[in-house]
Amino acid sequence: MFDLVCIGCGATYQSDAVIYTCKKCGHLLEVRYDLANINITRKDWQKRPISVWRYRELLPVAGEPVTLQEGGTPLYHLKRIGDELGIKELYAKHEGMNPSGSFKDRGMTVGVSMALQLGMKSVACASTGNTSASLAVYGAKAGIPVIVLLPSGKVALGKVAQALMHGAKVISINGNFDRALEMVRDLCETKGIYLLNSVNPYRLEGQKTIGFEAIDQLNGEVPDRMVLPVGNAGNISAVYKGLIELSELGFIDKMPMMTGIQAEGSQPVVRAIKENLPEVIPEGSPETVATAIRIGAPVNAEKVLHAIRMSKGTADYVTDAEILAMQRDLAQKEGIGVEPASAASVAGVKKLVEAGVIDHDERIVCVVTGHLLKDPETVIKQCAPPIECGATLESLLSALQL
Ligand SMILES: *Cc1c(COP(=O)(O)O)cnc(C)c1O
Ligand SMILES: [Zn+2]
Repeated sequence: MFDLVCIGCGATYQSDAVIYTCKKCGHLLEVRYDLANINITRKDWQKRPISVWRYRELLPVAGEPVTLQEGGTPLYHLKRIGDELGIKELYAKHEGMNPSGSFKDRGMTVGVSMALQLGMKSVACASTGNTSASLAVYGAKAGIPVIVLLPSGKVALGKVAQALMHGAKVISINGNFDRALEMVRDLCETKGIYLLNSVNPYRLEGQKTIGFEAIDQLNGEVPDRMVLPVGNAGNISAVYKGLIELSELGFIDKMPMMTGIQAEGSQPVVRAIKENLPEVIPEGSPETVATAIRIGAPVNAEKVLHAIRMSKGTADYVTDAEILAMQRDLAQKEGIGVEPASAASVAGVKKLVEAGVIDHDERIVCVVTGHLLKDPETVIKQCAPPIECGATLESLLSALQL
C-alpha cells in the first residue's frame, strides 16, 4: 500500500518498520503511496464528513483509527483585516478548533493509530506544548501510556494543564526544546518507545489534510498562497506534500506558493531562504513570545526548504510586537481567538503585502494553528485588567462612565 522512502538517498523501507530516519544516510523519511492504484475521486471524498479521515485513501492507517473527530475546522473569510490590507480573498483556517485546540491532533490521530498498528506499547514526545497536549489526549483515547518532555518554564499554561489532566507522565527538562528532543529520541531508541515528534513521517500524513480541506472548503479552488507559522517545519512540509499528491492524482492543476513565517528571534529557516543556503543553520538560543515556534534547529529543515523553493514561495519573520498586535486584531476585528504563534501567519501576510511581495489579488489561506486559551498568561499580560466595581447600579454606571 505504501513505503517509507528516504528523501536523501531514496532507500525504501517497508510499512511495518519502526524507523524514523534513514538507516543508511540519516536523512528524513516520507510515506510514498502507489498513487496509480488509488481508486478514489474528489466526488467520493465529498460524500464523507469533512475531517482528517475523509481522505483515508491517502493515509497510512489500515484498520479503525484512534479518532476524536479531528479536522473539519472552519475556514473563515477575514473580511475586516483583508479590507485593511487590500486583499479580497484572505482566509484563516482555524486549527484551534481541533479536539485539543491545535493542528497537532491531525498528526496524532494518525501517529497514535500507527503506534497501535505497529504493536507499540507506549509513546513519547518532546514538545513546546501542543504536541504534548495532543499526544496526551490521543494516548488517553487509545489507552496507552504517554511520556512527554517539556522545556522547563517555557510552555504555555493551557498546554501543560492538558498534558497533566489527560494523564501523561510530564517531565520538565532543564534545557530548551531542541535539547528535550535529543533526549526523547535517545529514550525512545533505548527503551523501544514509539516517538511521535514531527520527525515521525506518519504524523505529517495527518497534518497534510489541512490543505485538502482548505481546497474543499474553497469549492475546489486552489489558493494562490498558503501561509503557515514555522517551528519544526513539519506542518508546512506536510501541506506541501499532500498537495503534490493531489496534483499527481490530477485533482488540482496548480500549487500554492508555500510561505513560512517565523519569529524574529527564532528564524533559521528564513535565513536559509533569504541567503539561498543549501541547508538550515541551527540557532543556539531561539527566543520569542510565540513559544510554539521557539525552535532553533527545525527537524524538518530539509523538507521545508524543498517545499518553499519548489512552490516558488518565500519565508519571512515577524517581530513579537507584530505577532501580538495581530493576535489582538484577529480577536477583536474577526472574532478569532488564537495563540501567538498562530497570529504569526497573518502578521506575515501583512508584512509581505506592505513590502510588495504579496499581490493584492492573491487568494490566500493562512493557517492559524492553535487556540487563544492555550496561552492565557500572554493574553492577560497584554490586556488591561477587568474594571473593579462595587455591587450597586451607581458604581456600575460610574465604572462604565455612563
Ligand atoms: C507546532 C506548532 C507550530 C509549528 O508547527 P511546525 O510543524 O513545528 O512548524 C505552530 N503553531 C502552533 C500553535 C503549534 O502548536
Ligand atoms: Zn537515506
